[in-house]
Formats: sequence, C-alpha cells, structure tokens
Amino acid sequence: RLAQIGVTGLAVMGSNIARNLAHHGHTVALHNRSIGKTDALIAEHGSEGDFIRTETMEEFVAALEKPRRVLIMVKAGDATDGVIEDLANLMEPGDIIIDGGNSLYTDTIRREAAMAARGLNFVGAGISGGEEGALNGPSIMPGGPAESYESVGPLLESISAHVDGVPCCTHIGPDGSGHFVKMVHNGIEYADMQLIGEAYDLMRNVLGMPVTEIADVFRDWNTGVLDSYLIEITAEVLSQVDAATGRPLVDVIVDAAGQKGTGRWTVKSALDLGIPTTGIAEAVFARALSSSTAQRKSAQGLVAGTSTDFTPEDKAAFVEDIRKALYASKVVAYSQGFDQIKAGSEEYGWNVQPGKLATIWRGGCIIRAKFLDRIREAYDENPELPALLLAPYFRDAVETSVESWRRVIITATAAGVPVPAFASSLSYYDALRAERLPAALTQGLRDYFGAHTYLRVDKPGSFHTLWSGDRSEVEA
Ligand code: NDP
Repeated sequence: RLAQIGVTGLAVMGSNIARNLAHHGHTVALHNRSIGKTDALIAEHGSEGDFIRTETMEEFVAALEKPRRVLIMVKAGDATDGVIEDLANLMEPGDIIIDGGNSLYTDTIRREAAMAARGLNFVGAGISGGEEGALNGPSIMPGGPAESYESVGPLLESISAHVDGVPCCTHIGPDGSGHFVKMVHNGIEYADMQLIGEAYDLMRNVLGMPVTEIADVFRDWNTGVLDSYLIEITAEVLSQVDAATGRPLVDVIVDAAGQKGTGRWTVKSALDLGIPTTGIAEAVFARALSSSTAQRKSAQGLVAGTSTDFTPEDKAAFVEDIRKALYASKVVAYSQGFDQIKAGSEEYGWNVQPGKLATIWRGGCIIRAKFLDRIREAYDENPELPALLLAPYFRDAVETSVESWRRVIITATAAGVPVPAFASSLSYYDALRAERLPAALTQGLRDYFGAHTYLRVDKPGSFHTLWSGDRSEVEA
C-alpha cells in the first residue's frame, strides 16, 4: 500500500496534522529527523488511522503514491531549506512539496522558483489554529501554482475547519502569497491580543476591578459583536487560579511577552510597502517594551506617574466605553491588515481575493471571529473597497463607537495607564478622515532644507521656494 500524503516533522503541529489527515481516511506516511517522535506518534495514536512508519527520507519518499505529496512541518528557516533539498533530490517532476511551517514569504518565493526549475511543485501553505486547530481543523492558506492546488486542495480542504459547510482553505495565489497572508494574519493576531490586553488593563488599573469580574466581562462580550476565539480564551485565562498560590494565574505569570517573529515580519513588510499598519506595529513594540526587563525596572519609581484619582464614577458605562473602543480599534487593525495584503498582492502580482480570505479566517484560525462574516460581506458587496473601515457596516460601527473611544483614551492618559494600540488606532482614524494633514508643513520643511519641492493645491507642477534667496517661488 502507498500513502496519499507524507508528513515530515512530527513535533506538535506535524503530528496533529498527520492524525487529522488519518482521521479523514487518508493513508499517511510519517517521517521525522529523529525516529523518537515517529515512534511516539505510532505508539500513542497508531490506531486512529492508517499510518506508514518510515525511518529514512528514502523510505519515506518511496512510501508515497505518485505524484508524491509531502507536507513539511519542521522549524522554519534553515531546517526547512535542508528538508526541501533532501526531498527534492529524491522526488520526480510533478511531485508536490507543501511547506506548512511559518516560513517567511520571501523564502517561499525563492523556494518555489528553485523547485519549479527542477520540475517540482512547491506549495507554501500558511496554517493557523495552533495545536488544537492542527488536530481538529485549522485554517489553511496555500499558495503556489494553481495546478498543484487541484491535487492538494481537496486533501487540505478535507482536514480544514468548516464554517456553514464551507472549508477554511482556499488557493490564495502564486508562490509566497499563502505565507504572506498567514504572516499578516499573525500580525493581526498580535494587534488583537494587544487590544484585549489594553482593555483588561483599563478594567484592572483604572476601574480597579477584580480579575474574576473582568473574566465575566469578557465572557459577556463574547456574546455580542466581539464574539471571537481570542475573547473566549481571554475569559478562560483570566478565570484560571494558580494552584500553588491561590492567586489568579495572570498575576503569577511574568509580564514579558515573547515573540517568534511573524509580527515583526509583518511590520517590516508594512514599512517596505509603505502601508501604515499601526495597530500591529504598536503591538510588536508593546511586546518588546514588556520584555525590556532591566530598563523597566530602572524606570519604576523614578519616573513620576499621576497622583490624581481618575476612576470614572459610572463603572458600567466605562466598561461599555472600553468595549466600544476595543471594537473600533479592532476594526482599524483588520482594515490596516487588509490594506497590507492588498498592497503585497499588487507588489507581487498575486491577485489575492480579500473576500475569500475573510471566508477562510472564519474558522480554525486564531483570529476567527463572528465579524469576519461582516468582512466577507463587505468585500462581496464591493471587491474594490478602498478600505475595510469605509465599508458601510464598519464605518457605522466605528462612528457609533468614536465618542466612547475618545473617552477611554482621555481617561487612560489622565490615569497614566498605557493604551498604545487603542490610541494609535484612533489617531489613524482621525488622520484618515482629516481634510488637511500637517504633511503640508512637512513638505514645506523638506523643501526648505533639501529643495525637495512641493505640489500646490491650486495648480499643476512641482514648486520650490528660494528659501535662502528672495523667497520667491520657482517651478521645479
Ligand atoms: P517546531 O517549530 O518546534 O519544530 C520542531 C520540528 O522540526 C521537529 O520535528 C524537529 O525534528 C524538526 N527539525 C528541527 N530542525 C530540523 C532540521 N535541521 N532538519 C530536520 N528536521 C528538523 O515544531 P512545531 O510543531 O511547533 O511547528 C512546526 C512548524 O509549524 C513551524 O514552522 C512553526 O512555525 C509552524 N507553526 C507552528 C504553530 C504552533 O502553534 N506551534 C502554529 C502554526 C504554524 P526533531 O524531532 O528531530 O528535532
């Protein structure tokens, strides 16, 4: 018997995806650099489906039906390059390599071209949903040649999450597009988590609410427009009591947020593309600041805070303000993320369909949320939407939240509680809707010191003022 697909890299993600594939009736060849993980999987879960145990890469490749399909689930970076090379040396033209790791999209572009030159199909597939998603249905974002999707699409769709009977897996576009959208997905996840953190901090440190009560608020929010996986698990984490100390678990966890790189990549790409993805950038910086342990320690107690009590009198009203500020900021973060995807798609000629993306993010992935249905509808209605924020549903949602949003930021600032993502999202919104921006002054300054010229509002052409001369204007 031969396997329909092979999985190499059997750490937490790979082993769960292999089991998921087997649960859906596929025969799965298993391979891992060290045999221990393969044997552990067979020992613990071998009875769940049809697995073929292999030790060497040669055995692994020989266990696959043709055209061969291999899913790589190893550490992103050099390890992935090594595994691709080993596989490519054993494969034949027409075979398909799927990289399901969190690879950088530019690596995927390079790898796809190198494999295409050897007659192999290379599919860079973003996979979201963590451990649990991998096992029970992730959201899958495969890029690569359209022909390979015909072969691997049905297989990947079979194991993906489904919402309203629709698989959370679709062909994204050529080469690096799948990993690019997965990267921005992770960036949005960073923003989402930072916004949730700020909402929590406001309840904790402006309103002085106990953690259990805050957990209840999130539980309640999860029944409305904010209904999402991250809000749901926020209530779970906040409800957890530490067995050793009896304190809320959140109080015994060190407040230094880690990161593995996809948020940083998103921001670097946003800078290169010239897209103001401010919500994601603030979230990445907030994690960096939280981890600047020595610097934070030195600043504690030395820097003056605020001595006045700014606790709002109407607690329930302020909690509602926070909810609205969270929702509006979240809309901004997604709007910016979709702007970045549009810009990346144009830059690389990928033709990514934002509506299709919103559809496959409704289930399986970490940012799954009720409101992705609204995003899908917005793009269905107008595929050329200039910004998600300007779709009627979201414009209304933000407009009705804006007074609350401002109150939250005013109060947080007065009370000395940091709200970088809430505040920068509101500034972005205010800048986007402003009739005139101070960029006119920036242009004037650039012309003054560097003769960079400026455009005029009243006539065509580029102009320069003779700043060091008689200050008359000349056409450049
Ligand atoms: P890790 O990223 O921890 O990678 C461990 C696996 O990589 C092991 O199977 C290991 O083999 C293998 N490996 C490491 N170096 C090499 C090498 N040089 N050659 C061959 N194999 C090597 O595993 P995860 O399961 O966490 O993630 C797998 C991929 O999925 C990663 O790219 C990750 O970014 C991505 N991902 C992870 C998510 C998560 O929630 N964890 C979510 C979405 C994507 P060995 O056992 O021999 O050491």
